[in-house]
Order: sequence, then structure tokens, then C-alpha cells
Amino acid sequence: MKLFIDGNSTTKPLKFVIENLTNYMNEYFYNLNPTYQFYNEIEEKLENSRKIITQAIGAETGKIIFTSGATESNNLIITGFKSKSIITSSIEHPSVLNTAKSQKNKSRYIISSDKMGNINKIELESILKKAESPILVSIQHANQVVHTIQNIKKIGNICKKYSAYFHVDATQSFGRIPIYADSWNVDAITLSSHKCHGPKGVGVLWLKENITSKKLIEPIMKGGSQEYGLRPGTLNIPSILAFKDVVADITKNQDNIYKTLDILGKKLLAELKEKCGGIILNGSQEQRLPGGLHLTIEGIDTKSLLLGLPEIQASTGMACSQELKDPILEALGLDGSNNKHLRIQFCRDFCNDNLDILVNILVKRIIYLRNKWIS
Ligand code: PMP
Repeated sequence: MKLFIDGNSTTKPLKFVIENLTNYMNEYFYNLNPTYQFYNEIEEKLENSRKIITQAIGAETGKIIFTSGATESNNLIITGFKSKSIITSSIEHPSVLNTAKSQKNKSRYIISSDKMGNINKIELESILKKAESPILVSIQHANQVVHTIQNIKKIGNICKKYSAYFHVDATQSFGRIPIYADSWNVDAITLSSHKCHGPKGVGVLWLKENITSKKLIEPIMKGGSQEYGLRPGTLNIPSILAFKDVVADITKNQDNIYKTLDILGKKLLAELKEKCGGIILNGSQEQRLPGGLHLTIEGIDTKSLLLGLPEIQASTGMACSQELKDPILEALGLDGSNNKHLRIQFCRDFCNDNLDILVNILVKRIIYLRNKWIS
């Protein structure tokens, strides 16, 4: 048995996604060429996909740019946006933080966050007062390590007050909690298909109409004129169509997905607290992703814990950080050592019947390791 509880790193494509993708690869492998008989049909399917994704993030209009994943989308908005200033936070994913830091021709500002993972909005406002326009603010919706959800509506209002453009990396939140791009005053959003049970190799950068109509963004790669001239390269049409199917399914089942994940996370936390004690939940206690737990387990080296549990696929931190100290945890003022914490993110396809099995395995090993290290 393999119990996969590392949904922050990736997710398994749902069964219908794999089936649909196989069909799409057979039927829609073509490149977009107006002389093909199927051109109009594929164009229509692509346009429909853009519409479904736009609606799913609470936007009425705007442009959907298909990319290879969230890393590319984040690079495109941060490097390609013609801003004079870029403001981001110290707890962003490296594809935002490192890209922002590399913008040598722009003024760069990195705002701090409190221990719970809430970014400092007073600091944001004081920077916005002095930063040179056009300004791009890039803040994530939910954190990939401690699962804290930012108050995007509040940040959107602050950005609007100072006429700053607001990009939200929603890679971890989309498919778990709703997004309201328009009513939150968001100008650009990043999504990643493989984080919400779609195929790998597909990402989205949604751009509000004002960004494209004012030509505020330029491509970061040289090549053809695909994706409104902003992202060259042959479109991965089968995977885009399969991602669209997941998005439609998420929109339909949003409430149920939230409830399922929330119950799993809360149950596991309660059981571990009751049966083991010494369990600390890091990050915000209330504003957090459903089914996401970042735990410090007193007296436990979490790397040893997981290495002794072949049945469980979980992690001690971010998959993409090879550093010995996790920069996100350090920025939060927590111990960033890669053997001090356990990061869990339940997926919507986690079988409820397996929760008791998971609890038993974890509890047994925690008690065993604590006794071993005491004796
Ligand atoms: N942003 C966030 C918040 C993430 O968690 C990740 C993946 N860990 C990314 C961006 C990069 O996503 P992708 O794998 O699609 O490039």
C-alpha cells in the first residue's frame, strides 16, 4: 500500500483525466494549422478551455496564456511585465522570489511575513507609497510549506489604492479553495495543472484585459507568435484539454473538495495530538489550506520517521529546495532544518478508509522512535 499525502509537491491525474488525455492524444495531436480540416474544431475547443478556466478563477474576461507550468508563468509575469518596481514577499516559491531578485533593471522590494505566514501589509503599503510606477506586486494565495492563505482581497485593495498591478501565484490554492480574481482586484494569476490532478507540463498565466490592451507585457522567449505573441512554441493541446476537464470538475465540486480535504486534515491532526502529544501545527491556525498540515513533532527527526515508513509518501518540506535549510521556514522564523518537520497535504482522491491505517502507522512509529531515543 502507498499512502500519498504530499499533494503540495504534485498530485495524481484523476482517472477520467488519464482516459480523456489518452483520447485527446489520439484525436488532437495536430499543430494548429488553418489549412487542416480540424483547425476550427480545435480552435473552438481551445477557446472553450480558456473560457472555462477564466470563469473558474472568478474572472469575466482576460487572456489565458498556456505555459509549461507555474514556474514558467511566474517567470513570464515577473520578467515580461514592463514595471519599474517589483514587490514580492520573503515566503514566495523560488520561481517568484528568485525571478524577482534577478530583475536587476528594476527596483526590487521583498516584504516580510509574521511567524504564521501572513505577509506584512503595513510594510507593503509603505513600499507602495515610495515605489516608482508601473509597479508589479506578486503575492501567493497559499503557501507551499505551511499552507497559510493570504487575504488576497485586502492586498488587492491596497494595490488598487496605489494603482499597482497585482499578480497572484495560486498554484497551491487552485482546486482546493475558490478564487475571485475580479472582486479581489487581481490583474494576473498563475495556475499549475499538476497541482490539481491534471497532467504535468501545463500551466496558465491569466492576464486581465488592461495588461494586454496596454501592452504592458512582452514575451520572455524568442520564437513564434503563439498565445497572443506572449508565449512561443507548439501548444500542448491534449494536455490543455485534459486540464480544462479537471478545471470544469473542480468548479462543479468545489464545496465537496473543500469539505473532504478539511475533514481529513482535521481528523489526522486530532488523532495525532490525542495519541502522541507534542504535536505543533505551524502556520496560520485558521486561514490555511484544507487538508494541509505542517507539523513539528516533539522529539522526532522527521526524516528518520519517513524513511522508516515505506507505505507513506510525505515530505519534510519543499521538493524543489535542495538547500539544507528551508528558506521559507527561516523567513518565518522557524527552524529550517530539513529533518524537523512533516509536511502533509491530503489529495481529493485519498481514500477515507485509509485514514485509520495512516494514523496507526504514524502513531506507532512516532511512539517507537520516542521510546528508542529515550532508552
Ligand atoms: N508556485 C508555487 C506556490 C508552488 O508550490 C510551485 C510548485 N512547488 C510552483 C509555483 C511551481 O510549479 P510548477 O511545478 O508547475 O512549475
